[in-house]
Amino acid sequence: MDGEVVASNDVAALAELVRRAGTVVALTGAGISVPSGIPDFRTPGTGIWANVDPMEVAHIDAWRAYPERFWRFYGQRFQTLGDKQPNGAHKALVELETRGLLSGVITQNIDMLHRRAGTRELIEMHGSIASCSCLSCGERVDSWVVLAALEDTTVPLCACGQPLKPDVVLFGEYLPEAELGLAMQMCAEADLLLCIGSSLDVYPVGRLPGITLRHGGDVAIITQGTTPYDRRAAVRLGGDVERELTALVAAL
Ligand code: ZN
Repeated sequence: MDGEVVASNDVAALAELVRRAGTVVALTGAGISVPSGIPDFRTPGTGIWANVDPMEVAHIDAWRAYPERFWRFYGQRFQTLGDKQPNGAHKALVELETRGLLSGVITQNIDMLHRRAGTRELIEMHGSIASCSCLSCGERVDSWVVLAALEDTTVPLCACGQPLKPDVVLFGEYLPEAELGLAMQMCAEADLLLCIGSSLDVYPVGRLPGITLRHGGDVAIITQGTTPYDRRAAVRLGGDVERELTALVAAL
């Protein structure tokens, strides 16, 4: 044995792993929101990033230097994401949590769909579109208030006069330490980490499955496309994420 696992590729094997595990944690990426009509920004030719350079519009330096251009893009993004609804994959994770089979969800997504679906234990590693903040005085404002303000102004301002920033981690910003620390702890304690809809190649989220493996836990991958953990995964499901997770719930 060289320690390499031959991944099983059926839902029954995953259901068995979930049943046996004391602590199950889910780690989700853009792929879980695709069935809700939010394209993965890295899929060529699709999504809001197809015709824009993220560094020009969604970088912390862009927010500082060109707030009008930044907010023209981000206001649209808030509006587009605000209309989206959770899909069967988000709901399947809520069902697992309700049944006591899932301890929590760590997500890279900012779209709030886990919250809207009803996930209780949730870490949003990259923040969310729920609110905006003032970096000068710390004031936090609901995004619907900001969206309303954007009808009359090009750059939404805090009461103190400084421009507001969405509470999402922009390009060029660090991930919030508290959330990262919590996520690492959850992954260390997980007997099973369900990696859903993420290519797991973005630092530091891509490190999390390695933490579970080092602590003796199993990793399952439910993602279309390859990941750096495919060879170390106990189960590897490559079908439609909504269908796979719905089938998992049905098998439990
Ligand atoms: Zn302020």
